Amino acid sequence: MSVLELDAISKRYGATRAVENISLSVPSGSRVAIVGASGSGKSTLLRMIAGFEFPDAGRILLDGAVLVDHASEVPAHRRLIGYVPQDGALFPHLSVASNIGFGLQGKAGLKRPRVLELMDMVALDRSMSERWPHELSGGQQQRVALARALAQRPKLMLLDEPFSALDTALRATMRRGVTQLLSDAGITAILVTHDQAEALSFANQLAIMRHGKLIQVGPPEHLYRFPQDEETAHFLGDAIVMPAQLSFGWAMSALGKVAVSNRHLSGAAQILLRPEQVRLDITEQEQSDLPRGQIIDTDYSGGSSNLTVRMNSVGCDMNDANHGMTVSIRCFQNSIPKVGSTVCVKIDGLAHVLSPPPSS
Ligand code: ADP
Repeated sequence: MSVLELDAISKRYGATRAVENISLSVPSGSRVAIVGASGSGKSTLLRMIAGFEFPDAGRILLDGAVLVDHASEVPAHRRLIGYVPQDGALFPHLSVASNIGFGLQGKAGLKRPRVLELMDMVALDRSMSERWPHELSGGQQQRVALARALAQRPKLMLLDEPFSALDTALRATMRRGVTQLLSDAGITAILVTHDQAEALSFANQLAIMRHGKLIQVGPPEHLYRFPQDEETAHFLGDAIVMPAQLSFGWAMSALGKVAVSNRHLSGAAQILLRPEQVRLDITEQEQSDLPRGQIIDTDYSGGSSNLTVRMNSVGCDMNDANHGMTVSIRCFQNSIPKVGSTVCVKIDGLAHVLSPPPSS
C-alpha cells in the first residue's frame, strides 16, 4: 500500500519552475531518497509534502486522505509528518528534553517517560536531557531533532539533507543508525540529498530529480545498472560511456563487440559499462578476438588504479569513428601494467543502452 501519493505536483517561484508535474507513489515502510544536483527542486518538493509550501497544481495524499489539492490544504502541524531539516533547527533556549517533548500533549510528569524513551531510540544518553543545544555536538543535535520528529509518531518522516553538516565518519555512522531505526520502527521515510553514496546506501527506492522534473524512479541497484541517460549514469557512480553501433543485441564499440541489454535497438547509440564490468588482461595479447589498447596513463589511488587506455586494435568490425578512442578503466590488480604496455580488454555482463538527451 502507498502511504504517500504525489499527483502531478507543480510549483513556480516567479519564472523559476522549481517543481514540474511530479507524480510519485511512496509505498508503506519504504525509504525513498530524492537525489539531484543543487537547485533541482528537491527541498521544494519535500517542503510541499511537509506543508511549509503549497503547490500551484496537483494533489498530495497521505494514507488516502487529501493533504492538499486545488480546493483544500491541511496545515503542517496536522499532517502527522515528521521533518528533520539540515541544521536540526533546535530551539536554542530549550533543553534537550524540552526540545524533544515540545509537541507532546499532557502534563510534564507524563511527558518525561516518553522523552526518555525517544532518547533511547536515537541512542542519546539520558544524562544529556538537561543540556542546552549549544552543549551538544553536531551529531547529537541531529539525534535530538530526529527524536523531536519521532515524538509525534509520524506516518511519514522527511529528512532534508540531515547529515550534510557532519564530518564524513560521523555522517556514515549516523546514516546507518537512522536507517536502522526507521526500518525497525517501520516508518516510511523520504531523504533528500545531493550525495549519491548516501542515497544508494539509505534508500530502497531512488528518485532522480533534474531541473524540477522527476527523471527516473526505481531500486538503487537497478538505477545504477540501468540509468536512463548519461547524466544519471555519471551521477550514480563511475561510468564508461561510449558511442556504439547497435544491431541484433550487439554493440560495436571502442571496446569491441559487446552484448547489450536491449536486443531490439539498432543504429547509433551511447552505451554504458560500469568499471567493475571491465577487466584488463596482459596475458592474452596474441588472442586476436579480444580488443587491445595501449596504456597511456596510470593514476594510483590505493585499492585501485585508474588506467587510461588508447584502443588501437580490435578483432571485429568496429565503427571507424571509435578507433583510437581512449577509455578510462579501473584496475584492481596488485601490479598494474606500465605506461606503454599493450593490454587486452574483457567485458563482463551486458552493456546498457542510454537514452539520447532530450532535444530541447
Ligand atoms: P534543491 O533542494 O534541489 O537544491 P530547491 O528546491 O531549493 O532545490 O530550489 C529549486 C529552485 O527553486 C531553485 O532554482 C531555487 O533558486 C528556487 N527557489 C527555491 N525556493 C525559493 C523561494 N522561496 N523563492 C524563490 N525561488 C526559490
